[in-house]
Amino acid sequence: MAKLSMHETLPFDEETSPPPISTGELPDAGHLRDIVTEAYERYRTNREGSVADYIPVLGKASPDLFGICVVGARGRSFGIGDTETGFSIQSVSKPFVFALACDQIGYEAARRQLGVNGTGLPFDSVMAVELNAARTVNPLVNAGAIATTSLIAGDDAEAKWAAVRDGLSRFAGRELTMSTEVYESESATNMRNRGIARLLESYGRLYFDPEEATDVYTRQCSLEVTVHDLAVMASTLSNGGVNPMTGVRVIGPGVCRRVLAVMAIAGLYELSGDWLYEVGMPGKSGVSGGIVTISPGKGGLATYSPPLDPAGNSVRGQLATKYLAERLGLNLFASEPAEAPPDPR
Ligand code: GLN
Repeated sequence: MAKLSMHETLPFDEETSPPPISTGELPDAGHLRDIVTEAYERYRTNREGSVADYIPVLGKASPDLFGICVVGARGRSFGIGDTETGFSIQSVSKPFVFALACDQIGYEAARRQLGVNGTGLPFDSVMAVELNAARTVNPLVNAGAIATTSLIAGDDAEAKWAAVRDGLSRFAGRELTMSTEVYESESATNMRNRGIARLLESYGRLYFDPEEATDVYTRQCSLEVTVHDLAVMASTLSNGGVNPMTGVRVIGPGVCRRVLAVMAIAGLYELSGDWLYEVGMPGKSGVSGGIVTISPGKGGLATYSPPLDPAGNSVRGQLATKYLAERLGLNLFASEPAEAPPDPR
């Protein structure tokens, strides 16, 4: 596969452009609008990547769809492009369901039962289960995500599903509903996920019936969102677990920062290291083309564009996020040298 342009060098000089430091606030409304619009225009015509079709209905999405939305930690928002288009949340649901599980059982128990390290392997890897003694390595790839869903409180599948849907709706600040079309398409083709669930069961690392856990996970992935919903969900993680639009505390602050840690290590599957190197923020992608990125204390960013790179991450979404991380000064690792210290002699 030809090298994608995601490793392009951005067109500004790091030595002379305003220091992209991670403290403080988002730029004012006018600058935010201008910079997000620039990112949108810059990548709108990119034609790289291909739309996922291993879940047949996803293959029907137009490759031209592209939307970007930012929601600040105080609820200020700006969106551009296809911000009203509904799509299935897919893997972008995983950190939010992990957050709900941590909130229920405690983040230390969640770490013991699910793991918080990178697999370095594709999201649907069976080898990641076989090669690691702990079997589930993190909650953001399919094995760990199905195990996470299996941990959600509820005596039966319906109760677990209600808890997942209610929890994700609190993150979004509105009631989310499932796309039946996506659910049916994925249910008819998810033998691999069902196999992974069985494998985890055989190792004692699944916490509910494997068929039912996979079914609730599949419903979770079929929840329909817009890029604006994703930005609100991301902004809740940027705001210590309180949804800035509704004022509702969705998860505790200790859980919130641990969710961000796992996103930093595993949010873009085997390309998570490249992502952190370039973007310097926790993020999470999904195969329908969504990506959320969190700037702690500042806000949440979401992009939607269906064409994906070979790892399953939206191409335009990655490009736009990298551009915005730099231009909006969001990279967590950026710092400015302090004033020269007094000479100790
Ligand atoms: N529901 C999809 C699956 O299990 C989610 C994958 C993804 O978005 N990376 O394959």
